[in-house]
Amino acid sequence: MSRPRIVVVGAGFAGYRTARTLSRLARDKADITLLNPTDYFLYLPLLPHVATGVLEPRRVTVSLAGTLPHVRLALGEADDIDLERHTVTYTDPEGERGELPYDRLVLSVGSVNKLLPVPGVAEHAHGFRGMPEALYLRDHITRQIELAAAAPDPETCRARCTFVVVGAGYTGVELAAHGELFTDALVRKQPLRQGIRPRWLLLDLADRVLPELDRRLSATAERVLRRRGVDVRTGTSVKEATSDGVLLDDGDAVDTRTLVWCVGVRPDPLVAGLGRPLEKGRLRVDSCLQVPGHPEVFACGDAAAVPDATRPGEFTPMTAQHAWRQGVTAGRNVAASLGVGTRRAYRHRDLGFIVDLGGVQAAANPLGVPLSGPLAGAVTRGYHLAAMPGNRVRVAADWLLDSVLPRQAVQLGLVRSWSVPLESASPELARLPHPDDHGRDPRVPGHSPPKEEPDDQQQ
Ligand SMILES: Cc1cc2nc3c(=O)[nH]c(=O)nc-3n(C[C@H](O)[C@H](O)[C@H](O)COP(=O)(O)OP(=O)(O)OC[C@H]3O[C@@H](n4cnc5c(N)ncnc54)[C@H](O)[C@@H]3O)c2cc1C
Repeated sequence: MSRPRIVVVGAGFAGYRTARTLSRLARDKADITLLNPTDYFLYLPLLPHVATGVLEPRRVTVSLAGTLPHVRLALGEADDIDLERHTVTYTDPEGERGELPYDRLVLSVGSVNKLLPVPGVAEHAHGFRGMPEALYLRDHITRQIELAAAAPDPETCRARCTFVVVGAGYTGVELAAHGELFTDALVRKQPLRQGIRPRWLLLDLADRVLPELDRRLSATAERVLRRRGVDVRTGTSVKEATSDGVLLDDGDAVDTRTLVWCVGVRPDPLVAGLGRPLEKGRLRVDSCLQVPGHPEVFACGDAAAVPDATRPGEFTPMTAQHAWRQGVTAGRNVAASLGVGTRRAYRHRDLGFIVDLGGVQAAANPLGVPLSGPLAGAVTRGYHLAAMPGNRVRVAADWLLDSVLPRQAVQLGLVRSWSVPLESASPELARLPHPDDHGRDPRVPGHSPPKEEPDDQQQ
């Protein structure tokens, strides 16, 4: 008799942990396939360190083939799931189509940037949800400072070194905090016109930064941001964006070439196509992470609405902590459905939260104990090292080097503005030139970029 086939779609926090649990529990019982567009697991919480030159990009990636024994990697992106025929259809990185039949399916496709209907934002803002956007941003920030230093007039100089981040959740807060340190380091080497300093604005409609976290974390983060000179504006958002500025809803017009959209995420649209009940775009599952009516299908992480055992009637928030732990439950329950071990409901205990503010600063509340300053910084970095499933020594080495050496102020320019649109169902991949461009590759000198998406390298 042939072995059961388990297919896990998505190798982020939830899917990677599911596959790892299954490779331990069910490798003798089943064939395990992991479908993911990239060959690595991405440790998203350290992405701000990549965007601001603290860590080299490969440090925050962990090889799937190298760390998941007994799991077959299928490179590609699922575009259709047939719940009746039990098949997943996908497209590989070279455009070839493939099909994976399954007996058990785990959906862990995560989330994508959330858009709001604000004029000009889709065209002029960039998100912060994947590696291509982090690489783009690192180069873009470096380039803006370089162009600001050579700007012909003070207005252009000011606009180029003004950076606007919308959304003061942990992503926006960390990006603004690290970004400010990064641009300070850049202007130390390339001084701007007299009296002009890089300026970071952090906006949120809520009445405090980190509105979803403990108030003490908010207070610590806001104190550090303001001390560094970040212009924190709560109760404020963007009314309109253009190529050279933003209009805020308090009436202020800000000249800038940089608008980073960190207003949150929405579940990957793949799960909406299943025709099963959703909760705010997330696929509804029971407490054992199974899709009602389809016990052979499991879902976890950001894309799944998992009942929160500690808050009856509510669903677990979209965090790495939950996704990582739900991955263990999904792996165990899939194994149990094949006769290995017993099924159990997803339960969790709040272990607290950490927000890395760059340098030695952080805001943290491990096990509910509020910490700030260098102690919080040490706890935060220690937590990340312990939580990463690989590459720890390289990450620690980069942190050490960053503490003693100046930041590298060079831009490679490999990821262009048009290849990381805000609206994308695949933030993990940079967009490639479209076949309609008749072979023109905007990255090749002499080949012009698509007209509707100007390359900011030219700006
Ligand atoms: C910049 C940033 C910082 C963050 N910091 C923190 C933090 O400090 N603490 C915290 O708790 N949370 C943090 N989060 C949130 C956390 O990263 C997410 O909640 C977590 O990654 C969700 O895990 P997941 O497995 O559901 O999704 P992901 O980790 O996003 O993984 C989804 C995977 O599915 C793949 N995929 C997507 N679509 C398809 C498809 N169609 N076919 C195949 N594969 C697909 C993706 O490539 C990816 O590998 C942060 C998020 C960001 C963006």
